[in-house]
Amino acid sequence: MILMSGKDCSNYIKEEIKKELNNINNKLKLVVIRVGEDAASKVYINSKKKACESFNIDFEEIVYPDNITDDILINKINELNNDTKVTGILLQLPIPNHLNKDKIINTIDYKKDVDGLTTINIGKLNNNEKSIIPCTALGIINMLKYYEVNLEGSNVVIVGRSNLVGKPLIPLLLKNNATVTVCHSKTKDLKSHLLNADIIICAVGKKHLITKDMVNSGAVIIDVGINRIDGKLYGDVDFDNVKDIASKITPVPGGVGVMTVTSLISNIIECYKLQM
Ligand code: NAD
Repeated sequence: MILMSGKDCSNYIKEEIKKELNNINNKLKLVVIRVGEDAASKVYINSKKKACESFNIDFEEIVYPDNITDDILINKINELNNDTKVTGILLQLPIPNHLNKDKIINTIDYKKDVDGLTTINIGKLNNNEKSIIPCTALGIINMLKYYEVNLEGSNVVIVGRSNLVGKPLIPLLLKNNATVTVCHSKTKDLKSHLLNADIIICAVGKKHLITKDMVNSGAVIIDVGINRIDGKLYGDVDFDNVKDIASKITPVPGGVGVMTVTSLISNIIECYKLQM
């Protein structure tokens, strides 16, 4: 079994990022907008801030209270769209339910949309055009490539259909000639689909949803899930048992999560290039 380390793959990508940054004379800047005091969001933003600092990219966090209105957020984003010092804009999710999430996200100029969540970037991705790719999906594809996992002709089963992970993986995997199945909360008999998979990518958020009996011997497992229980992190896959039959598997923590933050830096550079 090969442990697919997010850190090792990330270190490789970081070298590529450094080379790219050497060719950029201007200072890059990321602005993160946070609404409310969600504890997990604060942790994620902190790791984004650290990553930016390590590459000498300016970082600013703008914080609004829970009861903020759509209009205030939209006006702020328009201001940031027009600010030539700002390379990338990220709306930290989740935001409170009373806000119009789609409208707010789509106010972000697609050239500054470091999360790749605007309809323009999603459309471009699905149309095989150059686009900003959602960070986690990009990190997963880079990891599969780094660990030389064959995608062409492989049966890939994605579990979870979110805009952040499951859905953007579909065009990315199809582009690499994989056969793609997407399972979700309404899927009947998840196990039968999983037993047909050469590669499983699980992004659900349920501790140990995937157990050893649901996995083919020799399958490649990418565990995206982050489940914080009594201060400890677990994936969606029962790692301790599944690792015995998988050919390659990501750990939690130390797998996909590390890649997501590195992909953000790659996306800031991609945004910069789009704006040139
Ligand atoms: P989400 O929370 O928006 O949605 C969960 C998905 O799981 C839905 O599509 C739903 O249909 C599916 N689902 C729910 N129960 C299911 C079941 N029993 N069987 C099959 N499918 C089921 O998804 P998300 O935002 O992609 O997050 C999923 C998990 O991945 C969470 O634990 C999240 O914390 C984690 N995550 C990790 C990273 C990272 O960088 N490692 C990034 C994003 C999300």
